[in-house]
Amino acid sequence: MTMSAMISIMVNSSPLAVEEGENLLKALQGAGVRLPAICFHPALHKTVGVCRLCTVEVATPGKPPELKRACLLKAHPGLAVQTESVAIQSAREKAMRALLKQAPQSERLIHLAQEFGLRIDPAPDGCIRCLLCERVCKEVVGAKALKLGKRNGQRLIEPVEGRCIGCGTCANICPTHVIRITDDESVRTISIRDEVIGRHPLATCEGCGKRFATPKFLEIAHDRAVDHHPDTKDHHRWCPECSKRLSPRVSGTLTRRY
Ligand code: SF4
Repeated sequence: MTMSAMISIMVNSSPLAVEEGENLLKALQGAGVRLPAICFHPALHKTVGVCRLCTVEVATPGKPPELKRACLLKAHPGLAVQTESVAIQSAREKAMRALLKQAPQSERLIHLAQEFGLRIDPAPDGCIRCLLCERVCKEVVGAKALKLGKRNGQRLIEPVEGRCIGCGTCANICPTHVIRITDDESVRTISIRDEVIGRHPLATCEGCGKRFATPKFLEIAHDRAVDHHPDTKDHHRWCPECSKRLSPRVSGTLTRRY
């Protein structure tokens, strides 16, 4: 095995002894210089430079510095590189965003971005900001229980404390199902992402005894139904099945069991 000659290259304005012809990324990382990289692996001989994270600036006398991928360069006499600059950071951020577009759930990428202070777009949270939920809650339900807020520079649909009546209209209209209704035996929970919008006891259907709606919702339905057509007057006290079964038009008489 032939030994390569040791040469001196300039890294961040300081001399560094490396083997001539050695992969620059490997040489820099071996010397303790911090450089992000994903597609480079020391066990593999060929480098491909596809993640573009290991960008450095190569200085050539008389020319402006050039951005190059360290994993595609070999150490040679006269080589001078910078590993940190505004242009490098911006190139790495661009590369990281492209990677995260393909794998937004990757913890490894997210940790690497944090480690190197790369600004990245927030991870998708399942909400497309169509505002249908906020609008329907205000315009149709009248509860105004949702609002568009801002957290860490990101626009977010947020609950307004104490205003939700637990009708579930927002969850039903949500095109991505990021708002969920969970009915356990006696409690309805409406949530968005991991945040609870409202938690309500469930009232009993006067027709069959099944728990089906929240008292706050029934109150509002009652207020709105009074003085309307007699067919709609009592329907809010019944679950959808009983509404059909017990409607005066269908059954002729009202036969309540509860
Ligand atoms: S469940 Fe709550 S937040 Fe959703 S539409 Fe009804 S009142 Fe508004």
